[in-house]
Amino acid sequence: MLDGLIIKSQSGFYTVETEAGRLICQLRGAMKRGRRRGDVAAVGDRVRLLPLQDGSGVLEEILPRQRILSRMAPNPRGAYQQIIIANPDQAVFVFSCAQPAPHLGMLDRFLVIAEKQGLPAVVVANKVDLVGEPAAREMFGHYEPLGYTVVLTSARTGQGLEALRQHLVGKISVFAGPSGVGKSSLLNLLLPDAHLAEEEVSRATSKGRHTTVVRELFRLPDAQAGSYVADTPGLKALALWDILPEELDGYFPELRRYVAGCSFSDCTHTHEPGCAVQEAVERGEVHRIRYESYVRMRTGQEVE
Ligand code: GDP
Ligand code: ZN
Repeated sequence: MLDGLIIKSQSGFYTVETEAGRLICQLRGAMKRGRRRGDVAAVGDRVRLLPLQDGSGVLEEILPRQRILSRMAPNPRGAYQQIIIANPDQAVFVFSCAQPAPHLGMLDRFLVIAEKQGLPAVVVANKVDLVGEPAAREMFGHYEPLGYTVVLTSARTGQGLEALRQHLVGKISVFAGPSGVGKSSLLNLLLPDAHLAEEEVSRATSKGRHTTVVRELFRLPDAQAGSYVADTPGLKALALWDILPEELDGYFPELRRYVAGCSFSDCTHTHEPGCAVQEAVERGEVHRIRYESYVRMRTGQEVE
């Protein structure tokens, strides 16, 4: 038996990284039966496997997961829990300081999703070379007191890249961000040997058929402890629909402590009198842009 980590999953075949190298594995027959209700094995799973003579392997056991990033996918046989990634340690949300201007409403929506999934978040403000550090801090600085790590980077000059790398050490990080912000440029600098373009192609051809979507973890070179990144469109696909409107305030760290002070126990914090949240906004204790994001999400206005 060998211990390993699933780094790629495609149509029932799993690429597993072990101390004996990479093996292509399939599930032991008996494990396939669980498939009706959800994915049995996923990228990010720690597994035990039996190596075979021909160099392949059989997955014998999936070790307990610390967490999962998942979504409920509709399925002809009923709801199906699709695991986007198993055991993610953090989400890394890449936005740019300019070209395109940061869409903070979308970042706030990503952060809510991360809170909902119990995932620590790192905010990367790329293209800092275009605006300079003070302006970048002005745009993204208010996320730091909320408990999110903010890293200013430039894929063009290399600024902040080492800092970003440090935040990835020993972790499985899920990257997400709108297009054009420089996410691929950053990933190509972090993963000089990765074949990201290849993944893009398979993703495009498997559009819509979730059972065949290729998911992959890329290992950072030279990291002592294994560090992996996943570039996944998965986070974007996680809509807000599985978050109840009344639980939304719980996913804004800065709002949580005011909620108990509202006059109405079912206060939506959008218009009610005696609302402790709105008062905190007026006093400048809650950042107005964040509050506006909250209101847009609470009232069901689309961010994109
Ligand atoms: P993605 O869509 O997020 O993957 O973005 P790309 O990596 O394809 O980059 C989009 C464009 O922004 C390209 O023209 C890049 O050369 C440019 N770009 C990426 N990072 C930076 C940066 O840090 N500074 C500047 N000035 N341009 C960048
Ligand atoms: Zn309120």
